[in-house]
Amino acid sequence: MTTITLVRGDITQQSVDAIVNAANSSLLGGGGVDGAIHRRGGPAILADCRKLRASHYGSGLPTGQAVATTAGDLDARWVIHTVGPVHSQSLDRSALLASCYRESLRVADELGARTVAFPAVSAGVYGWPMADAARIAVETVRSTETSVEEVRFVLFDDEAYQAFAEQAG
Ligand code: ADP
Repeated sequence: MTTITLVRGDITQQSVDAIVNAANSSLLGGGGVDGAIHRRGGPAILADCRKLRASHYGSGLPTGQAVATTAGDLDARWVIHTVGPVHSQSLDRSALLASCYRESLRVADELGARTVAFPAVSAGVYGWPMADAARIAVETVRSTETSVEEVRFVLFDDEAYQAFAEQAG
């Protein structure tokens, strides 16, 4: 059984096996949680990302997929980078958002991670409405078979925390 826990705070301060990053497909860093992870995790994460780009993802990590690097100076063993979909009014991209959670947990299982922290993927710059982002996140984790024992959603503000609490409660 996977336990879902909710924390209001900064994902870069978490002590877990793996921290999930809401990356962009370039894997070369960005704003929001991505920027915070690279800032606090130090240059080793970017160095790994560059290697992955060179070896596997020359045209970027596709949306909905996930890949792991070192966690550098973070209090974790790995960072799992996943690329959320940009929210669209006209297209239903929720399967891609669900895929981010499923693929991140698959990578976590491959690594042997037992505790995994997730941010609210796509719910920042990528514009996903928070309530819907929370529903997809919680439903997908609940319906995914995984050896991960704790999925910790780390929510940066009250709105995000409340939205996840309504789904997970
Ligand atoms: P995306 O591009 O996938 O939307 P963002 O980083 O812009 O990713 O935002 C995703 C969510 O992460 C937002 O709810 C944002 O408030 C939150 N966030 C930003 N910084 C942090 C952090 N240090 N820890 C946890 N969540 C964060």
